[in-house]
Amino acid sequence: EAALALDGITKVYNSGKPSEIKVLQGVSLSVAAGEVVALVAPSGAGKSTLLHIAGLLDSADGGSVAIGGEDVTALGDRRRTAMRRAKVGFIYQFHHLLPEFNALENIILPQLANGTGAGAAEGRALDLLKRVGLEARADHRPAALSGGEQQRVAFCRALANGPGLLLADEPTGNLDPATSDIVFGVLMDLVRDTGLAAVIATHNLELAARMDRTVRLEAGRIV
Ligand code: ADP
Ligand code: ADP
Repeated sequence: EAALALDGITKVYNSGKPSEIKVLQGVSLSVAAGEVVALVAPSGAGKSTLLHIAGLLDSADGGSVAIGGEDVTALGDRRRTAMRRAKVGFIYQFHHLLPEFNALENIILPQLANGTGAGAAEGRALDLLKRVGLEARADHRPAALSGGEQQRVAFCRALANGPGLLLADEPTGNLDPATSDIVFGVLMDLVRDTGLAAVIATHNLELAARMDRTVRLEAGRIV
């Protein structure tokens, strides 16, 4: 079964007003376990909206969403939040790490929120930091880390609860090209080692070419 199955997703903003905008007009996309899909879209095409719907951060107006074979379209808020925490990892262009906590704590906290015990959460956080080459930075706060290091910590945080699906919105978009290239390699290694399904939005066609498949979002549809 698919790690992510979107079927006929529609989304309208400002419905019925002069400013109405039909962002998504029937988007269907299926991502298999272990498959890494590049999502390429012109700015404003609805890429962030689509990722938010797939990641249970936003609701569609029509169509269905299934994660790991479970239809989550009609879940209530509490179940959606629990599902999102356990099953989906998110990475943004900016790291959104909590500034008052160090790297290790930033990776431990989502696990505690998901019900993992403190000892196990710390062990997993350290293991993840090792896998991205940052074990020596465990006790550094985000401000003491370089941009590339901050993003690598954000990758660890996204994978902290062992999700089956990773959604990333321009994960290396704020890094210089050389750092972006390296950090993207770290991300791909992490994804491959974990056997995750991933949808990674990028404007960078060279990065897209390193993934399994590219889909383009244009005028509200996958083309
Ligand atoms: P992308 O990530 O591809 O740049 P977005 O999904 O952020 O696109 O936005 C798609 C379109 O929907 C844009 O025209 C944007 O202005 C509009 N939009 C996004 N969020 C909202 C919102 N909450 N209310 C109204 N319009 C929105
Ligand atoms: P970049 O060139 O990527 O922006 P920086 O010059 O910010 O990198 O940092 C270079 C190295 O020094 C990085 O490995 C970073 O983690 C480390 N570093 C920067 N500031 C601090 C700090 N205040 N405390 C500890 N390490 C730091």
